Amino acid sequence: MRQILLLILLFFVGQWFFKTLRRAQTQSSQSRPGVDPRQPGQGARRANGGAAGAETGTAVLAEPMVRCAECGVHAPRSESVSVGEQTFCSAAHARAYDARKTSQNRPAR
Ligand SMILES: [Zn+2]
Repeated sequence: MRQILLLILLFFVGQWFFKTLRRAQTQSSQSRPGVDPRQPGQGARRANGGAAGAETGTAVLAEPMVRCAECGVHAPRSESVSVGEQTFCSAAHARAYDARKTSQNRPAR
């Protein structure tokens, strides 16, 4: 009987531990989500805070950093937005860069 109680206790502790671990993983993946090796950098457009939590976080340490073409800030590649050959820290900067480039091409506007 005592063993059963111990087993139940262990079960609850295990569940609590799993939940805590899961929460810690979600938090760390919010600051820098795991890189997706299947994703080719070219033309891959990804907004900030995507559904990256579901992916495995084994490759988190090997995440390459890319430089934002608009403000020069270095951001994890999975968090960055790439348009063509340029990468940006956010979709807003991608738009800003695009708008600036367009206005440079057409100064009359
Ligand atoms: Zn930027």
